[in-house]
Amino acid sequence: MENQLTRQEKKAMYNKKYREDHKEEIREKKAIYNKKYREDHKDELREAKVIYMQKYNPKYREEHKEAIAEQRTKYLEKKIVCSCGMTVIRNNLTQHLKTKKHIRALDEQNQ
Ligand SMILES: [Zn+2]
Repeated sequence: MENQLTRQEKKAMYNKKYREDHKEEIREKKAIYNKKYREDHKDELREAKVIYMQKYNPKYREEHKEAIAEQRTKYLEKKIVCSCGMTVIRNNLTQHLKTKKHIRALDEQNQ
């Protein structure tokens, strides 16, 4: 057990020394990795940023009011397939879930 601890300690010390000796190199590698990551995930990151700005930046919201409203409309008017198998407009989903059609369709599925 004692041996193992020593080995772990040695490893920790080695890692620490390695990090110190290769500080610049590691930083560079990290920067390259981050850059590559940003390039590979450009679209996702941009979308995430837009969503973040819409949520938390009132100035952004004010400046892009129309675009945001339009996006929201598009989102709500998108057709989706309900669990009952029917295609509904997302905005109508809550209402659709209460319709007899939906309930009957689900009943039929469950039988
Ligand atoms: Zn349904």
